[in-house]
Amino acid sequence: MFKILQKSISIGTVTAEYPRVAPHLAEQFRGRLEFDFAAWSDARPAADVCPTGAIAIHDCDGVRQVTVDYGRCIFCGECEQASADGAVRMTKQFELAVTDRRDLVITAEYALQADGHHGELLSFSSGPIAEEPGKRIEAAIHKLLGRSLAIRQVDAGSCNGCEQEIVALNNPVHDIERFGIRFVASPRHADMLLVTGPVTRNMELALRKTWAATPDPKVVVAVGACGISGGIFGTNYASLGGVDAVIPVDVYIPGCPPRPEALLHGILLALGLVRQRMGTHPRG
Ligand code: SF4
Repeated sequence: MFKILQKSISIGTVTAEYPRVAPHLAEQFRGRLEFDFAAWSDARPAADVCPTGAIAIHDCDGVRQVTVDYGRCIFCGECEQASADGAVRMTKQFELAVTDRRDLVITAEYALQADGHHGELLSFSSGPIAEEPGKRIEAAIHKLLGRSLAIRQVDAGSCNGCEQEIVALNNPVHDIERFGIRFVASPRHADMLLVTGPVTRNMELALRKTWAATPDPKVVVAVGACGISGGIFGTNYASLGGVDAVIPVDVYIPGCPPRPEALLHGILLALGLVRQRMGTHPRG
């Protein structure tokens, strides 16, 4: 016992200071993709290797439309490797949670050349922008947390990769309870549903019932590429695709799986919605 105490004291505090301090990211960490649309001469190799269809091409009337959907991206890096012109680059940006699914989609339009390459860049929309950068969220936390937040996690069919990261939120390094946020066993005690996985047909009814059992005001957070779009599984005989195909979703957290700080960023973003709804829909 004495040795354990001695070791604990010698190690000191291990809890990360995110969102006040940016986390240390491994050299090989892969975050948001960045596109230099003006320099991108041909999107076809990237679209061909993309395993989830996150990069899609549509040619019509001499115009090529290229869409990139961060809600489908698993951050594998294949498109970066396939793009010889260096126009596609993986960054380490992980704060990608948004409240509007459309904000995860970028579109670029090019004049189409006779040889099938892109011609002039006609237009492009900007990529996903973190709606609340971590440092700003932290400033709001104390104001928002007049009460604690209870989360019920629902695995609607995930591979359990996202669960590994969610479990890490409770360890001493990420320590989500420092924000007054805790996981509960019943949706009846929850403010927020944190849903992972493509929704399998076997879990559809359970998810609907869980949502119905959660008291208002409630928020739903879809976790990872699967939770947003069905990810690598898409929609098929066993999968209904993303969570919003079954219940309304308030926040989307891209990633495969999202790292703990990315989850925390999305949860804190959703916390603002809980607070807003408490004002308009107080619990009795
Ligand atoms: S990093 Fe994303 S967009 Fe690129 S190939 Fe992988 S899944 Fe597709």
